[in-house]
Amino acid sequence: MPFQVNLTNCDLEPIHIPGKIQSHGFLIVADKEFNITACSENVSRFLPLNAVALLQQPVSVLEKYLHDSAPAGFLTLILSFGAINHNFGSFNPYALDINAKAFNLVISTSEDQYLLEFEPEFSDLESDPLKTIGSSLSTMLGDAKLSNLLEKAATQIQEIIGYDRVMIYQFHKDGHGEVVAEEKTEELEPLLGLHYPASDIPQQARALYKLNLTRLISNVEEEPSGIVGLANFAETPIDLSHAVLRAVSPIHIRYLKNMGVASSFSISLVANDELWGLVACHNYTPRFINYKERESAKLVGQILSSAINFRQKEESLIKLNQIKKAVVTLGKGLLRNENIERSLFDEPITLLDAVDATGVALFFNGQWYTEGVVPDERFLIELLGWLTANMEQQLYETNQLPIVYPAALRTKDNATGILACTLSKELGEYMIWFRPEFLESVNWAGKPEKPFEVDMNGMLTITPRKSFESWSEMVRFTSLPWSAEDLESALLVREEIIFAIGRKQIEVRVLNEKLKEAYEELGSFSYTISHDLKNPLATVKGFGELLKRNPSLDDKAQHMVDRILHSTGKMQTMIDEVLRYTVIGHNALPDAIDMQRLIEDLIQEFLVIEDSDQLSINTGDCLDVYGDQTMVMQVFSNLIGNAIKYSKATTTPVIDIKSEDTDLGILYAVKDNGIGIKTVDQDKIFDLFTRSEDVESYEGTGVGLSIVKKIMEKHSGKVWVESDVDTGSTFYVLFRKPELVN
Ligand code: ADP
Repeated sequence: MPFQVNLTNCDLEPIHIPGKIQSHGFLIVADKEFNITACSENVSRFLPLNAVALLQQPVSVLEKYLHDSAPAGFLTLILSFGAINHNFGSFNPYALDINAKAFNLVISTSEDQYLLEFEPEFSDLESDPLKTIGSSLSTMLGDAKLSNLLEKAATQIQEIIGYDRVMIYQFHKDGHGEVVAEEKTEELEPLLGLHYPASDIPQQARALYKLNLTRLISNVEEEPSGIVGLANFAETPIDLSHAVLRAVSPIHIRYLKNMGVASSFSISLVANDELWGLVACHNYTPRFINYKERESAKLVGQILSSAINFRQKEESLIKLNQIKKAVVTLGKGLLRNENIERSLFDEPITLLDAVDATGVALFFNGQWYTEGVVPDERFLIELLGWLTANMEQQLYETNQLPIVYPAALRTKDNATGILACTLSKELGEYMIWFRPEFLESVNWAGKPEKPFEVDMNGMLTITPRKSFESWSEMVRFTSLPWSAEDLESALLVREEIIFAIGRKQIEVRVLNEKLKEAYEELGSFSYTISHDLKNPLATVKGFGELLKRNPSLDDKAQHMVDRILHSTGKMQTMIDEVLRYTVIGHNALPDAIDMQRLIEDLIQEFLVIEDSDQLSINTGDCLDVYGDQTMVMQVFSNLIGNAIKYSKATTTPVIDIKSEDTDLGILYAVKDNGIGIKTVDQDKIFDLFTRSEDVESYEGTGVGLSIVKKIMEKHSGKVWVESDVDTGSTFYVLFRKPELVN
């Protein structure tokens, strides 16, 4: 049963094995032994031979009908040479006479068979295009702009070919086509700018256009000729992909007829190894162009193809250069500028210049930075969540966001197209460029869908469109598509930013290292100084005491010596404190500390030093903490010491020590009923050598709480105070639980 085209299998119609040829020429198929295996039925119209009778005869039987133009045995010779070289190009076309009429023999292969096609030499063209091709090409290629080049090509090709209409038809990404240039006789309706649905030239037809660079349908009214072959011919019809006479799909014939076209000739345009488009020539009366002329047209097509390829590359290179320049400038800015987001947004060239977009948003370091037309922050946050969940690659692009992500419907004016690029998936950091909806009005040549009819067998059969009147359609929820240059540029900017982030991280690490070194140096410096100061101070103190014992000193001198001794004592304490402060951190590794014991011991010491009747220290449960025993003891010694010191002058000190297990860790509170601390002083007192203004009468150096703070920091903990003047103070120390310490 012949292949029945319907709506579902339109793309599968086997147009390369139509089992027929166009009947203005005839076809002989020969096998490897050069015996005839198939033959077009119309052979009898050209030769006094019957197609069926020719089967199994050697091809040489044809020779005597090809008159004097061909020497005896030439067919076998050509076939043998071609078979050895696997190429018949040099023989094509072979000129010969049939019934005193000039014919061209064109040989090609089909699997392991030879196709011998005989075509008339007579042409409807007035002169061989080869003669005018040189000047036509120079006019055609004279323009640097692609659109002008195409226009000129249409004009020149119409001049060479003489068809009523010559169109340059470009295939879009989705397979649909558009007439991008046209030259036509005046009375014809223009088709320039019209779009044709992809199904008008189905995929397998496009594949054949790529294989055969020219294709002639001489007369749509011409009845095709069948082919007769040996017994198995019906099961395995001969592949006519390379045959110049290959019959045309009946669908396509109807399509052309519906357009009023009587003859069509096309030249394929192949750029970048893809079918870029076609030079589609239509004539409204039958027309024949012979093989040589078609070859000349093919040459024009090839030159035009390479010009298109070149111009396209050149145009995208110009665009790419502009974008690259922006990327380089951004890269330099990122090197120069300390702040990454500022170099991407606050300079004359910004992130928006790196891609052809109307807006850009960057989510970096937990913040949004935007420029141009972008959706509101609420939508940006939602979109970020959607991207994080759905983006698998570094890049994601769509020019139909509302279709893939319906939430974007409400922002289609600024976010119909997005180009997103990951900076860090883990941190959810992305750059997103936006394009608005592009309400493109596409002028279709007729309604884009193919209407169908139910045929006699109840099959749905496609009837190609009868009306080619322009039919306008608004393309919705679509932005202009992102180009390869845009994608490349987004990736380049990404590299620059990642590099800058990496460099900044290294800088911070180096700075940290330097700080650590400086800090250590400072530590050992203060340690050495304080240590070395102790000796001369001991000498001063020693001589001072000797001097004090000297009876010859008068009262005034005695008083002076006392002042010297008092100051040296004070200095001694300060040096000791500084020494204690600088050695923090040089101690052993942390451990679980029995706090009940530590605090009890401390209290005992204080009760011995102070008059126990004049002091009351209460403790509740003392929860254990994790840390360095000596340091923790220093903390409580300072806090309890201060609590006593700053209370006893005004009252009987009552001190409460409490501990509590909180979410954040073990919290200790040391509460006194002393003089209290003014709010302004409450933060300052933890700084080195800083004391409240009103405590001059109390002995002290201002070092103790700095030690407490430093120790607590060493333990990843905290110290703070709550205090009311004249009521008392509570010092809190929080020891983090080991599992909470990072
Ligand atoms: P010092 O007690 O040697 O002056 P600290 O560093 O221990 O040094 O304390 C710093 C300052 O904090 C003290 O000078 C004092 O003004 C204030 N201060 C510390 N503890 C108390 C407290 N319990 N009551 C009132 N003031 C306090």
